[in-house]
Amino acid sequence: MAGVAAAIAVGLALSGCATPGASAESAGDQRPLVLATFTVIADIAREVAGDAARVESLTRVGVEVHDYEPTPGDLVRTEGADLVVTNGWGIDEWLLTLVERADAPHVVLSDAVEPIPIESGHYSGSPNAHAWVAPSEGARYVEALRVAIGDLVPAERAAVDARAAALTARLDALGARLRAGVARLPERHRVLVTCEGAFSYLARDAGLDEASLWPVNAGGQGTPQSIAEVAAIVEERQVPTVFCESTTHPGTQEQIAREAGARFDGSLHVDSLSTADGPAPTYLALIEHDVDAILEGLGG
Ligand SMILES: [Zn+2]
Repeated sequence: MAGVAAAIAVGLALSGCATPGASAESAGDQRPLVLATFTVIADIAREVAGDAARVESLTRVGVEVHDYEPTPGDLVRTEGADLVVTNGWGIDEWLLTLVERADAPHVVLSDAVEPIPIESGHYSGSPNAHAWVAPSEGARYVEALRVAIGDLVPAERAAVDARAAALTARLDALGARLRAGVARLPERHRVLVTCEGAFSYLARDAGLDEASLWPVNAGGQGTPQSIAEVAAIVEERQVPTVFCESTTHPGTQEQIAREAGARFDGSLHVDSLSTADGPAPTYLALIEHDVDAILEGLGG
């Protein structure tokens, strides 16, 4: 928290200056600014808003969002926002002190979600923050943003509603594809093994068991016990592919895969989009990539 306090102290000194964090292309753009904490939820907002608003993410692609420390520029950008979008449930609470200083409305997307608690470790009992990676919960995020962005740009409400409906339909189709694909898998292969336990919502919807090396990236690393448990599951169920999320350190999981003769796939995207030339440059592409990677990986 010392980092937050320091950031705010410096940020206060910078208030009223130019916005150092704002993107160059936003200069002169008069549309309202929707500011989200990380790239994934920023892209959901962008898809819902279309051309009706400017949407930016405070953190960049590939950043480990759980442990992010806001900068003075982030405070200035937050104060300039017309709508602030956070996920909530711990993953982006580093912004909360900054948001309190902003006049803009603030939408917390996880407010629309029934939480699944984290099962082990330091955060045991707290809600698992990663709801957006399940298409069904992503649709709840879309609905919350449809209302918030419609209120921000009421003249564009019909277009925003239409964009939200189209995005929800795409998510529904991806959710159905995932469920149908999992139903075709041999029962023992219906287990999703990851580094961070970021797939609880998706696994629940898809009918997959879930095993992970650590429950949440914030300070997360596998314990000897969790590593042994995951390795035993991979061995017993002859899991064809084990996964890591793109923002995690994959070494332990790669070793588990090697020892069990399983494949390793470190490409699941959860906490960040990829760059434009990667597999998940948008939220929809992220969900589609993860669904395909999981079905292909477990089908073999
Ligand atoms: Zn995470």
